[in-house]
Amino acid sequence: MIDLIDVTKSYGKGLPALNHANLHVDKGEFVFVVGSSGSGKSTMIKLLLKEIDSTSGQIIVSGEQLEGMKHRRIPKFRRKLGVVFQDFRLLKDRNVYENVAFAQHVINRPSRVIRKRVPEVLQEVGLAGKYKSFPDELSGGEQQRVALARALVNRPDILLADEPTGNLDPRTSLEIMELLEQINDRGTTVLVVTHNREIVNIMRKRVVTVQNGIIVSDEKEGTYHEA
Ligand code: ADP
Ligand code: MG
Repeated sequence: MIDLIDVTKSYGKGLPALNHANLHVDKGEFVFVVGSSGSGKSTMIKLLLKEIDSTSGQIIVSGEQLEGMKHRRIPKFRRKLGVVFQDFRLLKDRNVYENVAFAQHVINRPSRVIRKRVPEVLQEVGLAGKYKSFPDELSGGEQQRVALARALVNRPDILLADEPTGNLDPRTSLEIMELLEQINDRGTTVLVVTHNREIVNIMRKRVVTVQNGIIVSDEKEGTYHEA
């Protein structure tokens, strides 16, 4: 589902942000990518979304090779991916329902489909009954659930999460990670970048550790440790 083959990303002078990285993620896997600040985790996410281009190497995501992908192809490619961030990135002047429906409107889904799918996905993330709330009326955990619903509404192959619990307290963080696990159980491949040592160690998933742009360990049912 994801292949990084000898991928390097340099932003300019100095050490590359990602340095000859190799990573293979199968369909249906759940992977944590951990490492201290500045180690290259967000760079990896941006490469997978084709927000930035690699300096060298090869990236294949959901069957598509990213090097040389035509610009006009990128929006359609990104529809195969769902993404959430630490800061939720919701539309403040739209309610929960509209925040999620918006992602369907922009790809011209028929209203009939939207009216069916939005409640379905809000139910999945545990937000049935909050349709009319605005983001600033919700807790951080609820806002992240809205962001997750929006990421999932188009049924992506892969969910990418960049520090999804970075703004949440420990208990809410665990709830969000458990929701990510449920999403994975329903078949979506999930890649989560995180700092959250405690949760990584509770979840017993595959753990890929990045240090100074280098993948230094990759463990099945791993723990978060300094390599
Ligand atoms: P992480 O998400 O693990 O904190 P990043 O991928 O954001 O790490 O950053 C990795 C390295 O690349 C850091 O040294 C950072 O300063 C550098 N970097 C990230 N984005 C840019 C950019 N747009 N221009 C220059 N350097 C960048
Ligand atoms: Mg980051």
